[in-house]
Amino acid sequence: MEHDTTLRFMVSLACDTREFFRWQCPHCGLDFKLKVDADATQDVLASWMSRYLSTQGVKDQDDTESITAPTLTTCPYCGTASERQDFVHPQVAQFIRAFAFREVVEPLVTKMFRDFASGIKSSKHLTVKASFSEARAQRPLSGPEPDDQVVILCLACRQEFTVEESWRGTVACPGCQTVLVPQ
Ligand SMILES: [Zn+2]
Ligand SMILES: [Zn+2]
Repeated sequence: MEHDTTLRFMVSLACDTREFFRWQCPHCGLDFKLKVDADATQDVLASWMSRYLSTQGVKDQDDTESITAPTLTTCPYCGTASERQDFVHPQVAQFIRAFAFREVVEPLVTKMFRDFASGIKSSKHLTVKASFSEARAQRPLSGPEPDDQVVILCLACRQEFTVEESWRGTVACPGCQTVLVPQ
């Protein structure tokens, strides 16, 4: 008999004391930070988690419906525009993989051996709830996140973001793509 299992996860991620969370451009490889947006980040994490789990043979049958419309994000340095999940920082991706392995893959493998005789069909619905904390998260660790980079306020959409202190070029707003010329 098939039974539905909804897996809910509480992930603790580190943001800096100004509540910025780190992202990285997949095109130019530079880091920038955006104000914590729990809803958008949860979708991003859930999609990374189900992507990772599918490589481990765990299929999230709800993967298309559970993700709301992707948030378009623009790299402040090179202007590459893509879905928010493409900007996940490698450290965060690594954290998610380690978390998913520990919380899902390992228990599932254990369960699989236990239930081997009866046979299992598991349908997984992933719900990822992100909480942001300046403190160190419990296992596996994310952060701590330093208060580096300079804060920029986009006058067009009022969004705040941060860029490398050494950056001297123009900056595109990650939210509305307005090109900002530094003073
Ligand atoms: Zn870039
Ligand atoms: Zn803007």
